[in-house]
Amino acid sequence: MLKRLKDDFYLAMLTLVGVTIVLCVTPYGIYRLYSGNYIVGIADLIMVGCAIAATVTAWRTGDTVKPGLFMAVVFCVGAILVCISLGVDGVFWVYPFLVFVFFLVSPLRAFALLLLMLLALFAISSFKPDLIFSSQFQMLAFFVTTSITSLFAFIFAYRAQIQRRELQRLATTDSLTGASNRRTLNEQLVLAIEQQSRHNRQYGLILLDLDHFKQINDKYGHKTGDKILIELVPVLQSLLRQHDPVFRFGGEEFVVVVADISAAALEKLAEKLRQGVEQKMLLPDGSHITTSVGIAMLQAGEDWEAWLHRADMALYQAKHQGRNQVVVG
Ligand code: GH3
Ligand code: MG
Ligand code: MG
Repeated sequence: MLKRLKDDFYLAMLTLVGVTIVLCVTPYGIYRLYSGNYIVGIADLIMVGCAIAATVTAWRTGDTVKPGLFMAVVFCVGAILVCISLGVDGVFWVYPFLVFVFFLVSPLRAFALLLLMLLALFAISSFKPDLIFSSQFQMLAFFVTTSITSLFAFIFAYRAQIQRRELQRLATTDSLTGASNRRTLNEQLVLAIEQQSRHNRQYGLILLDLDHFKQINDKYGHKTGDKILIELVPVLQSLLRQHDPVFRFGGEEFVVVVADISAAALEKLAEKLRQGVEQKMLLPDGSHITTSVGIAMLQAGEDWEAWLHRADMALYQAKHQGRNQVVVG
C-alpha cells in the first residue's frame, strides 16, 4: 500500500485530498444539517461521499484520471453551491478548492476547470449582484485574488509536472542510448512473471550482445563505440512492435521482452533482429557489425532470475559456436 502511494503521485494526492475532505468537511456538513441549513449540509455530505467513492475507485482500478476529474468537477460545483448558499462566508472555501484541483487533474485541465467555475460565479453574481457579495468592491477583490491564486497554482503545478516527468525519464532510461534501463527491465520481468501466472500470457526474452565490441572500441575509439550503441537502439526498435521496449542490460548487451508470443515466433523475431543488425549497422570501414543472440520462453513456475539465466546461457553458447547467430535456451 505504501509502495503504491510512493510510486503513483496522482493516487497519493487523490488519497490525501479525499482524507482531508472527509476529515474537514464532514463536521461542517453535520453542523449545517443540525443548524437547519439543509442545502449546504447535503451538498457538503455529497462532496464527502464523492471524495470517498473517487478515492476507493482509484485504489481498486488503478485509474486515477477519471476519479480525479470526477472529484475536481464535484469540488467546482460544490464551491459554487457553497458560495450561493453561504454568501460571503462561503467564498473562503473556494481558496483551498482552487489548490486541491491541481492535485487531482493535470495542470491545464485544472486551470480550465477553475476558469469555468470562476466564470460561472461571475455570471451568477452579475445576474444577482447581492446573492454572494455585499459590494462591487468585494466581488472585484474576490475575482482578482482567485484569478491570481489560480494562475500561480497553475505555474507551480506545471513546473512540478515537467520536473516529475524529467525525473521519471532519468530514473527509467539509459543516459547514453535512451533505451529503458536495467531497473525498468527488472520491473518488466517481475510484471511478466505475474501476468503469466495470473492470465497465462506467454513471454519471450531476447538477449543480444554485440560481437567483438572491445575490438571495435580499440580500433575506432570509444566515441565511435558509443555512436554504434546509440544507433543500435532505433535499429532494434524499427524491427519490433511499438510496445516491445528495448532495455540496455549493460555495456553492449541489450534485452527485449516480448509479450504474447509463441516459441517459434520468438525465434523468428530474434533472427530478424540478428539479420537487421548485420544489414543496417556498419563500421566506418564499411564492414558489418554482428550480434549474438540468446532467447528463452518463460516457463511455468519459473522466476525471472532463472528465465534470464537461461537466455544468458544461450547467448554464451551462441558466442561459443562462432557468434552472429541465435541460440534457443
Ligand atoms: P564478444 O563478441 O565475446 O561479446 O566480445 P566483446 O569484445 O564484445 O565482449 P566484452 O564483454 O569482452 O567487451 C565488451 C566491451 O564493451 C568492453 C567495454 O569496453 C565495452 N563497453 C561497455 N560499455 C560501453 C560503452 O558505454 N561505450 C563503449 N564505447 N564501450 C562500452
Ligand atoms: Mg558483453
Ligand atoms: Mg560483446
